[in-house]
Amino acid sequence: MVAGIVTAALLAGSIATAQTQWRPYQDESVSLLQRYLRIETQNPPGNEERAAQFFHELFDAAGIPNTIFEYTPGRANIIARWKGDGSRRPLILLNHVDTVRADSAQWRVSPFSGEIRDGEIYGRGALDMKSLGVLQAMTLLILARERIPLHRDIIFLGTADEEADDTGSAWMIEHHADLFRDAEYLLTEGGSAVMTASGRNLYRIGVGEKAPLWIKMTATGPGGHGSVPIPDSAPNRLVRAAARIADWQAPIHLLPAVERYFHTVAPFEENRLTDIAEALKDPEFLGSLPGKYSPYNVLLRSTVSVTMLEAGQQYNVIPDIATAKLDCRLLPGEDPQTFLTELRKVVNDDRVRLEIAHEFGPANSSSADSQLFGVIESSVHRQDSSALVAAFLDQGYTESQMYRKLGIAAYGFHPVVLSPEVLATKHGANERVPMKPLRDALPLLFDIVQKISSEK
Ligand SMILES: [Zn+2]
Repeated sequence: MVAGIVTAALLAGSIATAQTQWRPYQDESVSLLQRYLRIETQNPPGNEERAAQFFHELFDAAGIPNTIFEYTPGRANIIARWKGDGSRRPLILLNHVDTVRADSAQWRVSPFSGEIRDGEIYGRGALDMKSLGVLQAMTLLILARERIPLHRDIIFLGTADEEADDTGSAWMIEHHADLFRDAEYLLTEGGSAVMTASGRNLYRIGVGEKAPLWIKMTATGPGGHGSVPIPDSAPNRLVRAAARIADWQAPIHLLPAVERYFHTVAPFEENRLTDIAEALKDPEFLGSLPGKYSPYNVLLRSTVSVTMLEAGQQYNVIPDIATAKLDCRLLPGEDPQTFLTELRKVVNDDRVRLEIAHEFGPANSSSADSQLFGVIESSVHRQDSSALVAAFLDQGYTESQMYRKLGIAAYGFHPVVLSPEVLATKHGANERVPMKPLRDALPLLFDIVQKISSEK
């Protein structure tokens, strides 16, 4: 218990002057993350109940009301609410407690050791997203321990199964939306903070994500012996269709948030594409986008990747059916049915059937002109004065999509500044988080939560 010191430091002035006072809480964040990484929640199967229990004990000890919902044996969500005076609507801190699986043979330490090596904490989930889960929990613990008065309730929501089927959030929204649907804002994964070559840190705040759309493509045709080729066999039709799709690019759709992102960030990147709208008028640049500028390409258009191909059982038998699976990612505003119709035109073969195998719903986004976005921007600048802050469209999927449908403005914000090399270990081998930026992220996240909840 370190009651009062952070409050005093915050009242006294900037985050920087509070730095030394933060040390006990930062130490606690490191050791909590180590403990949390040792709780194995690889999904499948998840076993998230263990993680829910971990947070439950922390919150109970701090007197924070919380509830575990075990919706399937071993799979659980946890919700905790620290009360403000209720004059403003709540803020949700959302984190998923499951991780993707880890193949320990590829790791230099055990993925469930929480081991610290050369100043970095290793473990599956260190980036995605147990570090943020711990920072969010610590924020709640500090608010409670220091009895900081707030206008908003702060809701901690830890959910199961984000890495596979979103059953945790889906179950909460279906059965207990009453516990959080009054929220105005939500913070979760989806943004990132990276060191740029210019030496300035870039904080990307996720205001929207592309939505996946999974399409199954099936070709049919006459089967026969492999010694007598059949020009319109199912496999031949399928590979032609797949080749047309591989050669096709969806039309460019420059969203205002993306245009603004280029404007903010480009001056500090090699390519200096400050005016992306102008650059897109150049046919040569346009043509080089998918190959040379693939990270830009995905921000500017919906995309499709051929990911699975299946046909036949034997070398010498031409099968009468062949299938391909397509992972499409749609920009906010794009309608899945319209995109499917467009793909059918590209394939242009009535013996190749395209159907939606799984639809995640149309992509949505939140405004970058909100009070919370402004608070994030000013808090980041107070801690890191040369930092760049930019609204960002994430090409990955996050559960923000599900909560925006309840009318909550949701943002991806992961305030731990990482090198591109460390960032790349997310979902890969040797996933890790360096201690220094993790420690720095705690006062920053706390400051944001405290400010948005004390402003009128
Ligand atoms: Zn994640």
